[in-house]
Amino acid sequence: MYEGRTAAQAGIVFGHENMGIVDEVGTAVTLLKKGDRVVMPFNVACGRCLNCEEGRSAFCKEVNPGFAGGAYGYVAMGPYPGGQAEYIRVPFADFNALKLPPGTEHEEDFALLADVFPTGWHGVQLSGFKPGESVVVFGAGPVGLMAAYSAVIRGASEVYVVDRVPERLNKAKEIGCIPIDFSKGDAVQQILNLRNGCVAFVFSSHT
Ligand SMILES: [Zn+2]
Repeated sequence: MYEGRTAAQAGIVFGHENMGIVDEVGTAVTLLKKGDRVVMPFNVACGRCLNCEEGRSAFCKEVNPGFAGGAYGYVAMGPYPGGQAEYIRVPFADFNALKLPPGTEHEEDFALLADVFPTGWHGVQLSGFKPGESVVVFGAGPVGLMAAYSAVIRGASEVYVVDRVPERLNKAKEIGCIPIDFSKGDAVQQILNLRNGCVAFVFSSHT
């Protein structure tokens, strides 16, 4: 969006990984109060339509007329300014704000709940992964690393992470994965060599 690959208009407020302290609540909000620490998933949802009721809140039918799904600070995702701002309005706040423990502990970890951790986790879910299986994640950006970490904590036997950036590969190793540097040869062949020819589950991450 910064680079002009979407129809973002000048003046749009970006920011979809939002976290902060509640400053004010609307009259319909019953579960939050001023001073609560909260993190918001990047999508905006009503919590009440059929899709929301069935857990497909990314495709809420009530928050973005003519479209299924809304989000903060995104082109075509509804009238919801993002969080790169001093304040953000959270619609349907009882549903869209996850209350965190008070204090400032784990700030940086909780911020991952807005997008990258659940996105990585869901990627593992969509792959059909079962505990005990081995996994390959292509791309060790934030989401890829969180997918790899999700596989680790969900009981993967081995998690291979393919990238070429040394810092990313080091981080993959740090969280219990096997780094594969694709600049040093065909990644699949490197993995097959390590596994004596046995295949593993494969999925890729775009960030
Ligand atoms: Zn909904």
